[in-house]
Amino acid sequence: MVSLDPSSPLNSSVLVLNRFYMPVHVIAARRALTLLYRDTAEVVYLEDGQYCNYSFSSWCEVSELLSGEKGEHDDWIRCVDFELQIPRVIRLNIYSKTPKMTLRLTRRNLFARDKHQCQYCGKSFSPIDLSVDHVIPRSRGGKTSWENVVCCCLRCNSKKGDRTPSEAGMDLIAEPKRPQRNPLLQMKLLNPKYEMWRSFLHGVDPVHAA
Ligand SMILES: [Zn+2]
Repeated sequence: MVSLDPSSPLNSSVLVLNRFYMPVHVIAARRALTLLYRDTAEVVYLEDGQYCNYSFSSWCEVSELLSGEKGEHDDWIRCVDFELQIPRVIRLNIYSKTPKMTLRLTRRNLFARDKHQCQYCGKSFSPIDLSVDHVIPRSRGGKTSWENVVCCCLRCNSKKGDRTPSEAGMDLIAEPKRPQRNPLLQMKLLNPKYEMWRSFLHGVDPVHAA
């Protein structure tokens, strides 16, 4: 079931809840199916306004029934002799830890916060053409914190060099801040596929998002 194609349904995202229905992770559908298959997790599915829980085998049956009326935003995979709907939310049967509350400052999270937009020239880039810029350079005591790092294109980064924005005559398009919510999750929520996640995100975002 390995697919490197990012548009493959197996690479869509699945929200993982702990035993108490608190969001703890976002993982790829491929991994979610493995957890379901091993009975480590169950599917949480919205049906006629109610949440129902399904084991892997019952989800296979449900999928069979649903396959006749696929929704516009649903993802499906073809198994040997049936089709399986990719779940959007799963719940771990045993895991009862609560989510971590501090969002880690990583390249991915930072680029997502800044929407892949260089914070100096304002243009959008793919991740390989972006770098992390310390607004106050580290050589001047600038910290690696949400308030002092921004997404920056390679051109602006080399132009700015080891200077502050005012020394370089380069203005930031926005003041860097710690994000209110997990920015990767925020991006996913713009996609109607993940509409169902909203019911489980009551101000508690999973810190690890895929
Ligand atoms: Zn730039």
